Amino acid sequence: MPLTLQQLNAAGGDEAVRLLDGVYEHSPWIAEAALAHRPFRSLAHLKCVMAHVVKEAGPDAQLALVQAHPELAGKALVAQTLTPESTGEQHQAGLATCTPDEYARLQQLNAGYNARFGFPFILAVRGPRGTGLSRGEIIATFERRLDNPPDVELAEALRNVHRIAELRLNDKFGIEPVVGNMVWDQLQDLARHSDPGYREQGQLTVTYLTEAHRQVAARITQHMRDSGFDEVGMDAVGNVVGVYHGSGAGERRRLLTGSHYDTVRNGGRYDGRLGIFTPMACVRELSRQGRRMPYDIEVVAFAEEEGQRYHATFLGSGALIGSFDPAWLDQKDAQGVTMREAMRHAGLPGTLEAIAALRRDPKRYLGFVEVHIEQGPVLTECDLPLGVVTSINGGVRLRCEIIGMASHAGTTPMDRRRDAATAFAELALYVERRARQDGDSVGTIGMLDVPGGSINVVPGRCVFTLDLRAPNDPQRDAMVKDVLAELAAICERRGVRHTLEQTMQVAAAPSAPAWQALWEQAVADLGVPVFRMPSGAGHDAMKLHQVMPQAMLFVRGQNLGISHNPLETTTSDDIQLGIEAYLRLLEQLAAKAPA
Ligand SMILES: [Zn+2]
Repeated sequence: MPLTLQQLNAAGGDEAVRLLDGVYEHSPWIAEAALAHRPFRSLAHLKCVMAHVVKEAGPDAQLALVQAHPELAGKALVAQTLTPESTGEQHQAGLATCTPDEYARLQQLNAGYNARFGFPFILAVRGPRGTGLSRGEIIATFERRLDNPPDVELAEALRNVHRIAELRLNDKFGIEPVVGNMVWDQLQDLARHSDPGYREQGQLTVTYLTEAHRQVAARITQHMRDSGFDEVGMDAVGNVVGVYHGSGAGERRRLLTGSHYDTVRNGGRYDGRLGIFTPMACVRELSRQGRRMPYDIEVVAFAEEEGQRYHATFLGSGALIGSFDPAWLDQKDAQGVTMREAMRHAGLPGTLEAIAALRRDPKRYLGFVEVHIEQGPVLTECDLPLGVVTSINGGVRLRCEIIGMASHAGTTPMDRRRDAATAFAELALYVERRARQDGDSVGTIGMLDVPGGSINVVPGRCVFTLDLRAPNDPQRDAMVKDVLAELAAICERRGVRHTLEQTMQVAAAPSAPAWQALWEQAVADLGVPVFRMPSGAGHDAMKLHQVMPQAMLFVRGQNLGISHNPLETTTSDDIQLGIEAYLRLLEQLAAKAPA
């Protein structure tokens, strides 16, 4: 019989610890401390509390917890001295049936890892879907993590300990993230479609209106029909639009939602697409129950967000607010194909009239919500599955040049140099300090060059970029002002000069408070701590922000939150929580539509 939360909440002290036996390897102290937080409101609540106990326990206890684990495919597996849980997991991962080569490689990795870190390599071998990583994936992960800095690796080991505990808890409570698994599988399956040149290498690249892009659109269309949407179609820019009607006759107001289905080159499977399939799974659930909300749900799978084939970032969501640039139609891709030709080839009209007609009347809409994989390390570092977005950062990009004087590296005394690179170096450290001062601003110098430099010449020129972002425009502008003042002061002091060119400026998109509150309540209802964070990356919600209230929810990524990378992933448990939060948002919206 699976354990229930009622049983756990009602059990006496020792009995309750016994009920959680084996969740954290040889470490009953975690259960003991977590049980003080009863009653648990959900399994997700219990998981978060246990992870929090470990976080609070400090480095010595954390290291001891990691060291309580067996090596992967190690001597304990061979000698059959593992705990029943570990034995099951390692057998399921096929580690008991390694080839002699694989076994030798694992022993070699175990030895190298232990020598470097002083604790055993821990990996949740059941993986993000709970059904097991292949031996190849296990070995590749092992090799990759050997390069991590020790503190990063200890934290990653602990996160794997929590993931192992999560799956063991699911087993104990007889709970499976069924809908999360379904979406995980759908996204896995969708990733089979990839542009030529990438597909052959097993990489995911889907750029605007390619054959793979049209196949993905066709799959989304079919999924929408299967999920019970009442209207499904493709619009003039290639967005796939599904509408699930609300109850009652006449014109109802609509909830607008969705995200993008194009990808960057060699991108991840969840970026954008999670925000399409999450509301789709919710509509499937409503349709299955025969339920209608008092509003329509309009899910848009945006055709283009990443600006890869054409320089037309946010094309899909931009079309909905009337910000399609007419010049884009004549823009050519790398093969010389204009966007108009690409549209017509895809069966779209390719006319400005048809595109202009996509503009939505904001009065018809309640607002816009978007679920997105976090694409950063914050949630995973906090051991939290969901994050409520407070604002999408506004940003400024600048291209700068410092001009000094090139001179002989051997003959120019140190006090007589006009070194453009060392002037830059001062600024680089200042940018780091100044952005950190705000707590939630970020500043990056992503490109840096000493044009025509050589090893024996004092740098006469230094060209670099600045990318400065903050959750609101005044905060960003204050940072930009300080950075540029510092640049001027450094140049003045060092007797060099500089030039500036602003290449981009986007306004911040703070979440509408009433809508952010809906997400917060939805997350709290799941028993998950409410965690608020700004979005460092841009999203489709920024576009809709210009005409209607919007708010976003982030879902935790694995592998340190890496994104725009094939290693981007999230667990089916976290996807499930995102769907459950979304359903709760729909319920709240039905009860009281915010102004
Ligand atoms: Zn995205």
